[in-house]
Amino acid sequence: MMVAINPTWRDVRRAIEIAQQDGLRVVGTTTINGVQVFAIPSRSHPGTVHMPYVDPEQQRVVCDCEGYQYRGVCAHAMVATRAIIAQAQTVVDALRGQGLPALAPAEQEREAS
Ligand SMILES: [Zn+2]
Repeated sequence: MMVAINPTWRDVRRAIEIAQQDGLRVVGTTTINGVQVFAIPSRSHPGTVHMPYVDPEQQRVVCDCEGYQYRGVCAHAMVATRAIIAQAQTVVDALRGQGLPALAPAEQEREAS
């Protein structure tokens, strides 16, 4: 099992900056053994991707890149985190759009009385 490193806020901020500067984004996603994996281009090795995912044990996004192994955070993990938040927002928006289920006429009468 991978040893969890708690990142410093400075490293988290730096990872977000790098992701923004380089315009890093998710280029693919798939599910492996029930876990959603994100493909995000490598900065040091063009043409290859890193594949961050949510580790169920650690309850956080982990990445296979070198930077993550040292700092416990990386630009890829930040991009994946942003994608996960966007997905969650999509669910929230969908639920909001649904509104309350309509009552059947018989139920409406009962409600009124
Ligand atoms: Zn990474």
